[in-house]
Amino acid sequence: MASAVGTPETYVEKPETLAALRAGIAAGRTRAADLAAGYYERIEKINPRLNVYLNLTKERALAQAERIDAMAAKGDPLPPLAGIPLGVKDVLVTQGSPSTAGSRMLEGYHPPYDATAVTKLEAAGAVILGKLNCDEFAMGSSNENSAYGPVRNPWDTERVPGGSSGGSAAAVAANLAVATLGSDTGGSIRQPAGFCGVVGVLPTYGRVSRYGLIAFASSLDRVGPLAANVRDAATLLAVIAGHDPCDATSSPAPVEDYAAESDKGAEGLRIGVPAEYFGEGLDAEVRAAIEKGIAALEAAGCVVKPVSLPHTRYAVPAYYLIATAEASANLARFDGVRYGYRSPRSETLAAMYSHSRDEGFGAEVKRRILLGAYALSAGYYDAYYLKAQKVRRLLAEEFLGAFAGVDAIVTPASPIPAFKLGEKTGDPLAMYLADIYTVTASLAGICGVTVPCGTTKAGLPVGMQVLAAHLKEGTAFRVARAVEAAGI
Ligand code: GLN
Repeated sequence: MASAVGTPETYVEKPETLAALRAGIAAGRTRAADLAAGYYERIEKINPRLNVYLNLTKERALAQAERIDAMAAKGDPLPPLAGIPLGVKDVLVTQGSPSTAGSRMLEGYHPPYDATAVTKLEAAGAVILGKLNCDEFAMGSSNENSAYGPVRNPWDTERVPGGSSGGSAAAVAANLAVATLGSDTGGSIRQPAGFCGVVGVLPTYGRVSRYGLIAFASSLDRVGPLAANVRDAATLLAVIAGHDPCDATSSPAPVEDYAAESDKGAEGLRIGVPAEYFGEGLDAEVRAAIEKGIAALEAAGCVVKPVSLPHTRYAVPAYYLIATAEASANLARFDGVRYGYRSPRSETLAAMYSHSRDEGFGAEVKRRILLGAYALSAGYYDAYYLKAQKVRRLLAEEFLGAFAGVDAIVTPASPIPAFKLGEKTGDPLAMYLADIYTVTASLAGICGVTVPCGTTKAGLPVGMQVLAAHLKEGTAFRVARAVEAAGI
């Protein structure tokens, strides 16, 4: 069902394209039920090594596959994702099956409803294989903060897949799903996509409903697809995007046919290269790969020019104040009463709250709650949270200024390739600083796509981040397609 790439000790494998799979199902050459069964077999073999899936939703998947097969047998018109096996990050709730957000706090939680993105995927005929591992409450850049153990990178199992959507990225890289959903608050789709050599999409804030996304930082949280190629990612985005009455921040703007947009080619597009993303701390091999990508865009008829984004240097501190402040408020609901784990050591109400939160949350989540509560506390609010919001505004204006002169901006997705498991766990600040290239677009609300852009000498993937203005996903896909087509 697929062609193997990479060295023999890796699990890297490219799935067939979504269009080819769907055509096979429509023509009766492939049964959706067999396709799903094939994926479950591969998952059984490989998942113990990679720890990508936390939970399989077999019954639901097979029922859906059979429904699609019945439609195909009758010759009914098939929806766009008919029979396509997908995985979903465990921060998106699924009715009646475990949804943990990678936390012990939500162990055993069986939500009574589906996230809107999940509902839309299934309505489009997708077969959801199961729920994917991630950093606890999506807080992290390496997947090492999951309460259920780290995910391993299919390209080198001694290395992290990135985070927090590490399971979503590794599942696509290892062909344990044709495509997946992740969430991105400060880079959690774009950075792991880069580390695992797959495509990852950060839709414009509000483009995809957050209903049923377990909240981390509500003004930054976004749901988006990861896939093995740009066109598949674009197809998925068109399915999950759109206004949702259940999410007041979702945009009423009409949804474009992103796959068709991506077919238009990149010729004539103006591409900005910001010097601030190519300075200190950028790995030389990552830089060389991205420079090749930029040269490929020039060869494809793009006009490449420098742009300046000087506030980039304030983005990491601003992000880690705003994200933690919102997290401290969002995570207050996990008190052992309304939601989540309840400690048996509950002599008094206060002890019950404190033991439940102490035992239910991991170290990174506690660190964020403390940071956020501090940033919001009386006397510090103006100095930290308010100031960070002002920086956020300046960053957004700076991007808008740059987009007056260019159609897209290209940068590395991360200053470094996938690092070794355990290499950065002792130094949270170093981990935060490596988010420098992704948190800016998060704060500005704009959209972006990570596309594979070559490998290092050791064979690790490098991801290029293509950023575009609000609701210009189509432009980002066109540029990403051109980089993909160059086959760097
Ligand atoms: N790595 C960033 C963080 O730890 C982003 C996480 C995310 O996007 N969910 O906050």
